[in-house]
Amino acid sequence: MELKKITENTYYIPGPTNLGLFVEDKKVILIDSGNDESTGRKIFRLLEEKGWELAKIINTHSNADHIGGNAYLQKKTGCAILSTALESIFIKEPSLEPFLLWGASPFKALRNKFLQAQPSIVTDIIEEEGIIKDTPLQAFPLEGHFIQMIGVKTPDEVYFIADSLFSPEIISKYGLTVKSDIEKTLNTYTFLGNLSAKLFVPSHAHPAEDITGLIEVNRNQVEQDNQKILNYCRKPVSRERILQLLVNDYQIPLSSVQFVLTHITVSAHLSYLYDRQLIKPIFDEGKMLWTNNDKIGL
Ligand SMILES: [Zn+2]
Repeated sequence: MELKKITENTYYIPGPTNLGLFVEDKKVILIDSGNDESTGRKIFRLLEEKGWELAKIINTHSNADHIGGNAYLQKKTGCAILSTALESIFIKEPSLEPFLLWGASPFKALRNKFLQAQPSIVTDIIEEEGIIKDTPLQAFPLEGHFIQMIGVKTPDEVYFIADSLFSPEIISKYGLTVKSDIEKTLNTYTFLGNLSAKLFVPSHAHPAEDITGLIEVNRNQVEQDNQKILNYCRKPVSRERILQLLVNDYQIPLSSVQFVLTHITVSAHLSYLYDRQLIKPIFDEGKMLWTNNDKIGL
């Protein structure tokens, strides 16, 4: 585990999920806690070596790869854990994440550390916008990926932007990255495009001073996925058939976990296209099928 200094007080730890640290008077505010207990242990050791004390963890959102170290670190240090109200429900009850993704009580293969972290106690609920209580940090909303995700801005103009943008490598591997709301995702891209920062630190892409190109890659992907789904809907197709066509098109390696993560994104696109009256569901012989609006005479 490597600590990278960005500014006087701000650091990040590169990894499968990039983590942020804001350090003042040897007290650390950690932004997200990584994938699992083992990441939590490594963070704990790193802070011990530096002689720093973990004061707070701010979780940008409740996905398992962002809260995985919470339980261990809170047990070892008694640190505070801060999140927005809706995300806090999932941090306290992480079994809700696979429940939400599957739409019912999940089978065993979905109750693993990739989707379900250990529970931890959220001590403080924070607003999605404004100064984060008792810190010099500022929260800003990053809607569209999960339910109430935030980014965190430090006083030295470093923006931790969570899962609002994914690296080109991840996008080309999975075709579609997890989204729960397409309109909000697009609004978030516009919002990010208007920011300037000393450094942007996405959780799953390289930190960069300029994210214009990264925003375009992400936005193009959303538009391409909308277009693909619209094309599939020229004939009435089921949600599962759309998922199959995308999986084959992008050659997404499928597993139970990857299925539900792809599924939520397909569902988000269907909601978006339906709300724009571009597609419509029809019910045929016990199937719910999606079709272009022009094909049904509207
Ligand atoms: Zn993530």
